[in-house]
Amino acid sequence: MPKTIIVANRLPVKIQENNNEFNLMPSEGGLATGLGSVYKTDNNIWIGWPGQVIADERKDEVAGKLKDLSLVPVYLTQEDVLEFYEGFSNDVLWPVFHYYASTYTTYKPSNWDYYQTVNQKFADVILQHCEPGDTIWIHDYQLLLLPALIRKQRPDISIGFFLHIPFPSHEMYRLIPWRAELLRGMLGADLIGFHTFDDVRHFLSSVSRILPTPVSSNVITCGERSIVVESFPMGIDEQKYAGLTRLPEVIEHADQIREIYKNNRLILSIDRLDYSKGILQRLQALELLLEEHPEYVGQLTLYMVVVPSRDTVPQYMHLHDQIDKKVGNINAKYRTIDWTPVSYYYRSLSIETLSALYSAADVCLVNPMRDGMNLVSKEYVASRTNNDGVLVLSEMAGASRELIDAILVNPNNVIQVKDAIIEALNMPLEEQQRRMKQMRQLVAKFNVNHWVQIFMERLNEVKLLQRSMQ
Ligand code: UDP
Repeated sequence: MPKTIIVANRLPVKIQENNNEFNLMPSEGGLATGLGSVYKTDNNIWIGWPGQVIADERKDEVAGKLKDLSLVPVYLTQEDVLEFYEGFSNDVLWPVFHYYASTYTTYKPSNWDYYQTVNQKFADVILQHCEPGDTIWIHDYQLLLLPALIRKQRPDISIGFFLHIPFPSHEMYRLIPWRAELLRGMLGADLIGFHTFDDVRHFLSSVSRILPTPVSSNVITCGERSIVVESFPMGIDEQKYAGLTRLPEVIEHADQIREIYKNNRLILSIDRLDYSKGILQRLQALELLLEEHPEYVGQLTLYMVVVPSRDTVPQYMHLHDQIDKKVGNINAKYRTIDWTPVSYYYRSLSIETLSALYSAADVCLVNPMRDGMNLVSKEYVASRTNNDGVLVLSEMAGASRELIDAILVNPNNVIQVKDAIIEALNMPLEEQQRRMKQMRQLVAKFNVNHWVQIFMERLNEVKLLQRSMQ
């Protein structure tokens, strides 16, 4: 029976080592949840890196444990992690695709060599498991070369590719020395999906300018093959987030948070540590607000959760220091004996704690400078089962194309962000409810299962059409 193979850089598990024994903890991330309906059924599998360098003598043990969960490992060496993952993926592709490249960006040929080698390692594992009639769905920017590597060996196999981060305008994209090779890699797929229509436009524009490949509407013709490019905005597991708010422990925790901040309006922000998330700009907006409007001193709290991420990379360490400093300055300048403007947490939280925070917050402030989608904004909406609360959302997040009832802001405009916070704090309840209801309906309808379903259906259609034209 033909199967579906999901491929992503990481497997949906965390490996923990206790007393020299590996334990696998299923991860609860959005992608893992959404694709759970796929890889956990029939003989489908998920191929990816287990997230840790595994010694040769323990590889069989890890593979055996993963097999029980329908997971297949691709093993990476320490050099692979440094050069392919931290180097090319996170130090070249991530910044360029988020519009952060500068004349100082270094494009190291050794990073590129490893990127090619590791994509080939993924291809080798896939080819060992792939049979005629299978469907392969490849995810994200670490694996841009993979579709073509598979296509070369299996010309007829059905391949979908989805990019979870923005695709930049041609003016940014063309900075990459290996821009043509990366596009050719992606064009090994039959269906290429992005979160927004702008990403689709940018991709098509780069293909038509960089490669000598005809593009018409959203179809690219590559020799005999037609490749379809479309937007599929990713959703969340809305029922899970709505359901969490009804758990007794979550209700109790949310009540405790409200009690602690009973004299304050609570503004929540939750992000991974990343320069694309606008964390410093958010703090600037808050500082401006307190400076211009002393009437809010003692009246509001920014509850800011920053989840540690990539914190061995110098740029991220520097950002961490800058955030610590800025929070320290604001708190030192404005705090009173019984009030602190910023409650700052540098850690990751359990999903129950996240849910309690989403429930308790009057405002959720999401102001990335760039974001492929941004799931936190959707999770806040799904958690507002009373239909109150206000979302302030950056225009630069993919989610802003759908959540048009949020207060939308340009995150570079600190004055506008400051004004949006004030507007959110003063929004009448009826207006909050009208906006939140609309957004909740949208998040419920276009959930993660819907996203998986329409992508897979479209991939089948594209493949059938291709075969009928042969
Ligand atoms: N999240 C988490 N642990 C935390 C805080 C957040 O797992 O302590 C989750 C959050 O619920 C969301 C994801 O991390 O699902 C962040 O996704 P988003 O698209 O907002 O940003 P990304 O980190 O993917 O750039």
